[in-house]
Amino acid sequence: MSGEVPVTVQAIYDEVLRRNRGETEFHQAVREVLDSLAVVLDRHREYTEMKTVQRICEPERQIIFRVPWQDDRGEVHINRGFRVEFNSALGPYKGGLRFHPSVNLGIVKFLGFEQIFKNALTGMPIGGGKGGSDFDPKGRSDAEIMRFCQSFMTELYRHLGEYTDVPAGDIGVGTREIGYLFGQYKRITNRYESGVLTGKGLTWGGAQVRKEATGYGVVFFVSEMLKVRGETLAGKDVVVSGSGNVAIYAVEKVHQLGGRAIACSDSSGYIVDEKGLDLDVLKQVKEVERTRISEYAERVPGARFVEGGCIWDVPCQVALPCATQNELDGDAAATLVRNGCIAVAEGANMPTTPEGVKVFQEAGVSFGPGKAANAGGVATSALEMQQNASRDRWTFEHSEARLEEIMRDIHHSCHTTAEEYGRPGDLVLGANVAGFLRVAEAVHAHGLI
Ligand code: GLU
Repeated sequence: MSGEVPVTVQAIYDEVLRRNRGETEFHQAVREVLDSLAVVLDRHREYTEMKTVQRICEPERQIIFRVPWQDDRGEVHINRGFRVEFNSALGPYKGGLRFHPSVNLGIVKFLGFEQIFKNALTGMPIGGGKGGSDFDPKGRSDAEIMRFCQSFMTELYRHLGEYTDVPAGDIGVGTREIGYLFGQYKRITNRYESGVLTGKGLTWGGAQVRKEATGYGVVFFVSEMLKVRGETLAGKDVVVSGSGNVAIYAVEKVHQLGGRAIACSDSSGYIVDEKGLDLDVLKQVKEVERTRISEYAERVPGARFVEGGCIWDVPCQVALPCATQNELDGDAAATLVRNGCIAVAEGANMPTTPEGVKVFQEAGVSFGPGKAANAGGVATSALEMQQNASRDRWTFEHSEARLEEIMRDIHHSCHTTAEEYGRPGDLVLGANVAGFLRVAEAVHAHGLI
């Protein structure tokens, strides 16, 4: 064993940069975790000697494949599919599939890397992975979506299995897509392997609360953050970016807990409705009609639509970025602080830039990083796997109670880890260290693999 020369965190980062050129989002995600790890490596010489961190930074397997499909006019399209099986120390690879034109290997790797620690924080037996395609589902018919999903699964199926790799949804992949993917998996393998995908429909193996879980979980988590400050959500104005699955159910839970969600957005702009968003209209516009958010303002008197613009200009006490990566930068964070924001919890993966995080932390704003705050989705996926394995079905109430308990536990372990490592209140450090320690212990125990 070597180890005479201490490998600094910077050296590990330099190596990641060298081996993964141009993958800026992946670099950003790795940097953030590594910045928290110097203190841990001081206490654990064995992780330096066995290059545990370097091994965690290198995916176990990266799969890239061609996805050919035909649109409704008969034109042939070719997309690229990805699945990064990042780390299986704690369980089968687990993580969503994202269908969005921005998807490339670097983005899938950043998401997969985050997923390792997020999944570890849930305390459930799941490893980390992520996948997707640069396919753009916007404006596509159901038939086109189905043909794309079938082609995607025709390659991916050979890499999956309930004990191997279990995908779910992410941006652009919901119950409809999981249905087409599951159907094709079942057809190719001739196995009704419910636990091979999560986010399934309730009538064919899906779990109660899975759809709501990420959004509900973020709000449970931010409630814990507020509790530490002696506050609650009651009466607070909340801005939620995005209007997909995460944002919609974050809005629902904010209202249930007495807060007022007053704004949300999509790629065309944002809406503000000061009396509190009307959930029925929001769901109709975004879940049923799958149309632009401006439609909301057309239908609800008193609501306004701001084309383009920055949703973080809307004054609030609590901000929940639930759209996509790097949507909240240093300037937006400074605006939120100036307008009296006291808590930010990330519903999306890495929505706040490093500058944004710094602004919040320096201003004393409570900040909940995505790998902790949005872990409710994947935690409930693990509950879905548990129900599939035991051929059981839980009630909504029981499932929601489990989710709430898991989010409380995650907050507790991030909070206490931050204290233990001399940075009280720093949930970024707490999440990174607590997640890393769980993964590193298992990686170390499994030997040099
Ligand atoms: N895509 C979600 C996430 O970012 C959920 C993944 C899952 O349920 O496997 O955590």
